Amino acid sequence: MRMVRVRFAPSPTGYLHVGNARTALFNWLFARHHQGVFVLRIEDTDVERSEARHEAQLIEDLRWFGLDWDEGPDVGGAFGPYRQSERQAIYARYAVQLIDAGRAYYCFCSPEQLEAERQAALAAGQQPKYSGRCRTRPREEAARKVAEGQPASLRLKIAPGDLAWNDLVHGWVSFSSDVIGDFILLRSDGHPAYNYAVVIDDHLMQISHVIRGDDHISNTPRQLALYAALGWQPPQFAHLSTILGPDRARLSKRHGATSLQNFRDLGVLPEALRNYVALLGWSSPEENREIFTSAELIQQFSLERVSKSPAVFDNAKLYWMNRYYLKQTPTSRLIELSIPFLVRAGYLAEPAKVQGLEPWLERVLNAVLKNLDTLSQLPEATRLIFHYDAAEIVRHEATRPVAEDKGSRAVLEAFIPKVMELGDLTYQRFREIAKQVERETGKKGHDLFHPIRVALTGAVSGPELEKLIPIFEAGAKLHLVPRVKSCAERLREFAEAAHLAVAPRPA
Ligand code: GLU
Repeated sequence: MRMVRVRFAPSPTGYLHVGNARTALFNWLFARHHQGVFVLRIEDTDVERSEARHEAQLIEDLRWFGLDWDEGPDVGGAFGPYRQSERQAIYARYAVQLIDAGRAYYCFCSPEQLEAERQAALAAGQQPKYSGRCRTRPREEAARKVAEGQPASLRLKIAPGDLAWNDLVHGWVSFSSDVIGDFILLRSDGHPAYNYAVVIDDHLMQISHVIRGDDHISNTPRQLALYAALGWQPPQFAHLSTILGPDRARLSKRHGATSLQNFRDLGVLPEALRNYVALLGWSSPEENREIFTSAELIQQFSLERVSKSPAVFDNAKLYWMNRYYLKQTPTSRLIELSIPFLVRAGYLAEPAKVQGLEPWLERVLNAVLKNLDTLSQLPEATRLIFHYDAAEIVRHEATRPVAEDKGSRAVLEAFIPKVMELGDLTYQRFREIAKQVERETGKKGHDLFHPIRVALTGAVSGPELEKLIPIFEAGAKLHLVPRVKSCAERLREFAEAAHLAVAPRPA
């Protein structure tokens, strides 16, 4: 096989979608597997929709996703420029060559004329296709009209015959040239059309394999016709299947998160997303295995194991993988990733200034992490640490019974003064006090611990008190803004809100 050179060629028109991320990942895995070259090319010929900030976003997203490229607009390379908007002169040069060879011609049809033809074809139940009206105009006449300044686009003359290729995913695919009209290479404003620029670039950049979404299958015969007209050997093509949502409709925004940015905001780890996306339409020869490092993916990746059936995007599975990767992540990185979520929830202000925050956050994560699919669930899971409002607890449907039930009140009236007397609570001391309360009230098990849990945490369930008690106590000492309340503070507030018969703390 000749040197593998592949490219990812996004149009910078918005956020990077998982479908495109999968295309990028497969190209990257293929290049790395074959010790080839991975090129990033920016297809920004659609001037109205392409924006520089989208390009920057795209590069950031790809890097976050864990990909790197050997040639591209930001890293350079021997086949640049890597932005189509900077390659206009190249496109113009090959246009001249195609006209001179009689393989392309100027078209002066107005948009209205073309639209009328299209509508007529549709009304007759036919596939719309350019009529070829300008095809037979003598070249000199066309050149004169262009020289006079008449707007003209440039079209490729499609030669009769079949346009076929052996797709590395789909096998032989063939289109009759009858269904393909003479398509536009250069628009009347001078901008190249996608099918034109892509062929010139793929050839000049010596791309060996074009791996892209199967929405481009119908473009491939057009591109093959152009390779033939230029006398060039086409690359090999591999078209990746569509990604569907759980309802088997094409994956789109209405299925929820679909862009890399969305997943990042949700607190999905890039390594989890990368592992998950690698399995969208590719399967490892090791059956029944789903967790792979990038090095393993590179080693195992091949186009032979890419499926032509659509892949279904399964959020539950992605979250399962994310839980796995969250558990593998070193604490220091987890803390760093978690802080923005806590700041955004209003639980932490200026975390950089708080001494001792990190070891405390480590305890917090240790208490809640096993229940999290994504870091975006962190605020909800840690609410009982950062937020305590006794009035709310006494009012809330789920917790109100504890404030009203006679047995629960008896437990708390015995329990609360003992903790308040103590000031600082350890789990060890908590156990001893609970034993004492059990003896005094005769309540045990759920009847004993449920009221205590509710009064301390404001919730009917949550992490073990063994973990929470030290978190409350240590959190209170950190002087966070807003404050984390200690056990004694919580209980005092609860006693007040529930009007418990609790003697005030001795002065
Ligand atoms: N700019 C095209 C896209 O984003 C590239 C298609 C191709 O890979 O040829 O769909």
